[in-house]
Formats: sequence, C-alpha cells, structure tokens
Amino acid sequence: MPGGRALLTVTGATRVGAVIGDPVAHSLSPTIHNAAFAATGFDGVFVALPVRPGDLGTAIAGVRALDLLGLSVTMPHKAAVVSHLDDVRHDAAALHAVNCVVRDGDRLVGTNTDGPGFVDALTSSSVDLVGTRVLVLGAGGAARAVVRALAGAGVAEIGVANRTAGKAEAVVLLGGRAARIAELDDAPDYDVIVNATSVGMGVAATGAALPLPADRLREGLVVVDLVYEPVETGLLAAARAVGATAVDGVGMLVHQAAHAFTLWTGLAAPVADMERAARDALRRKT
Ligand code: NAP
Repeated sequence: MPGGRALLTVTGATRVGAVIGDPVAHSLSPTIHNAAFAATGFDGVFVALPVRPGDLGTAIAGVRALDLLGLSVTMPHKAAVVSHLDDVRHDAAALHAVNCVVRDGDRLVGTNTDGPGFVDALTSSSVDLVGTRVLVLGAGGAARAVVRALAGAGVAEIGVANRTAGKAEAVVLLGGRAARIAELDDAPDYDVIVNATSVGMGVAATGAALPLPADRLREGLVVVDLVYEPVETGLLAAARAVGATAVDGVGMLVHQAAHAFTLWTGLAAPVADMERAARDALRRKT
C-alpha cells in the first residue's frame, strides 16, 4: 500500500490504552503496544495523548470515566500522577515515579516497570548479574529505577557516579547495603557499566559524547547504554572498539513495555514482535 497505512480493525468492543506526557508525540509506546496487540490478537488500540501538567487530574478522571485499558506515563507526570491514583505499588512509591497505571476493578493503581524491564533486558542479552560489580552513571529517574532493581538482582556491588554528587547519595540509599558512591576513574574495576545519564542522547556515535573517558573501558566489561536514540551511541561504539560487550537501550524500553502489556491484558507479551517494531521505528527516525 504505497504511501498508505495498513487497515486497523476497530470495533465497538476495542479497548483503548494510552501514553500520557507533555510532549508525547515522539513516544514509541504506541508503536510497541500496537505491535503487541496485533501479534496477540488482543482487541485493543494504543494512542499517545498530550496532557499539560495543569490538566493531569482531569485526564486521570477521564481514564476512569472512559474505562481505558491502562496508561503509560512519561515526563513530566511520573511523580505528579501519584496523588490522582487510588494506590501505588511498592516500587513506584520508593522511586516516587509511576510509569504504568493499571486498573484493579474500579481502582487505578500506579506501578513502575522500568527496573524489571532493565533486568529482563540484560537477561535476554545473556548477561548474568549475580555476583557482579555494577557501576551506574547518573542519578536521575532511570538511574533510580536501575539501582533499585539491581539491589534485588543479587549483585555484589553497586557503584553510583553522578556529575552532581549530592544526587548520587540519594540514589545510593535505594541500592541497600551493596551500594556506594563511586568515581568514573574506578570504572575498570567493575564488571558492568550502565549509562543512565542522558549523555549521548540525540548525538551520532561519531559525535563522541561519552559519559566517561573512553580509556576507562576495557575488554571483558559489559557496557549498557540506556540511551536508545540513537541506538548505537558513542559509548557503545567505544565499548565494542575495546572488545567489551555492548548492550543498547532498546531492550529495556521493550521489556518495561512488555511488563505493562501483561499487567493490562493478562497475556504473555510478544517481546520479539515488540522489539522488532521498536527497532524498525528507530531505524526510520534516523
Ligand atoms: P534525568 O532524570 O533528567 O537524569 C539525567 C541524568 O543525566 C542526571 O544524572 C544528570 O546529571 C546526567 N547528565 C545530564 N547531562 C550530563 C552531562 N553533560 N554530563 C554528565 N551527566 C549528565 O533523565 P532520566 O529520565 O534518568 O533519563 C536518562 C537517560 O536514560 C535518557 O537518555 C533517557 O532517554 C534514558 N532512559 C532510557 C530508558 C529505556 O527504557 N531504555 C528508560 C528511562 C530513561 P546531574 O544530576 O548532574 O544533572
């Protein structure tokens, strides 16, 4: 169908899911979740709805009134949405961030699927975290979710290094006894390095925007970049160049969505279809 779009079958029974944010037009969630609906035959459609901060309460009332299937929540609403929900699950409460809203009867419950998505992404890349020393770069929302997930993943040590040292101390508290403040210079002593900063976002791999000096990388390291636009970042290119294992950010993006899909539908997520859709969309963007 040159220049056209595949026909989507929408009936009176079709359920509607949505991602809310401001802005939200760039979100890959509709691409990923509509691929999951198509692959499983679930009668649903997923859209992106821009919601301004002052309209958040009205928007959540709309989710109830319109009986939406569920919500993905992105910036700037991840923290503010909590006060509009009936309950918030433990992880999301600890992180002060909800990225997924699930219906439980008449109640709307907030949860956070980023941490489990991160761990599943590493598992599906054949990275065994048990007993490893992991250095997390960054102290924003992504770093918080990763450090909390690592605390439950059997790692030996979690180092947290951030440009603004004070923020790293708050993140260390989420990592329990295994977590401590680290320096970029310590990177070669770790087994796994996770870039949870936004350094490299929107920069071609050749642009050399690195969250740590390239000479801190070595053969045998696992280097994970949570940045997924571009998929191949300067950090991943530098990691491959020294013989380290490079894991891109698409896996976490897809696996956090897979958890949300299962929470909304009760179905096993078609991860391979979701990942193919995400990678195709990212390829089209570049
Ligand atoms: P955020 O809350 O805004 O945090 C940004 C972090 O990056 C902070 O630690 C900040 O340090 C650091 N940073 C920014 N510019 C820097 C620079 N020039 N040098 C050193 N550090 C710098 O963002 P976020 O929500 O955590 O997201 C971080 C990245 O992860 C983004 O690229 C996002 O797209 C990605 N992400 C990916 C997934 C996924 O599923 N793959 C999920 C979530 C996020 P300061 O504290 O010093 O400002």
